[in-house]
Amino acid sequence: AKGRWNDIWLAGKTDSAPGTLFDKIIAGEIPASVVKEDDHLLAFKDINPMAPAHILVIPKDRSGLTNLRQASAEHTDILGRLLIAAGEIAKDTELGFGDGARIVINDGSDGGQEVMHLHVHVLGGRKLEVRYI
Ligand code: 5GP
Repeated sequence: AKGRWNDIWLAGKTDSAPGTLFDKIIAGEIPASVVKEDDHLLAFKDINPMAPAHILVIPKDRSGLTNLRQASAEHTDILGRLLIAAGEIAKDTELGFGDGARIVINDGSDGGQEVMHLHVHVLGGRKLEVRYI
């Protein structure tokens, strides 16, 4: 497990930002309630849910994707995968989602991003206010 953790941590470091706790979740070093996983992405319940249903979707390899502002054409595939996964999660009634969801990316310090590994928030389970700030 340690070797794998190091691999993932270093992969995430290729854009020079340090690894984050999400690398440890990917490696299984920190437990998380995983709701979806494939070779490219991981989705798990937010530890501090802001809505009755609150899932985070992250790329397993964060390379170049500390946040969306760093994205370029090479990330087209993974960005598509993240959004498709977010949409699938948002219609999963077993996760508590009803008729719709809010899908959010907090980008950088001004955007309220705390974990510097790109992640998509999928929020729902009740009717949300229309509010962006
Ligand atoms: P940000 O503010 O960076 O957009 O969102 C980071 C999210 O990660 C927050 O909603 C926070 O609750 C969640 N989070 C932080 N630490 C952990 C953790 O150890 N486990 C899980 N499941 N979520 C976490």
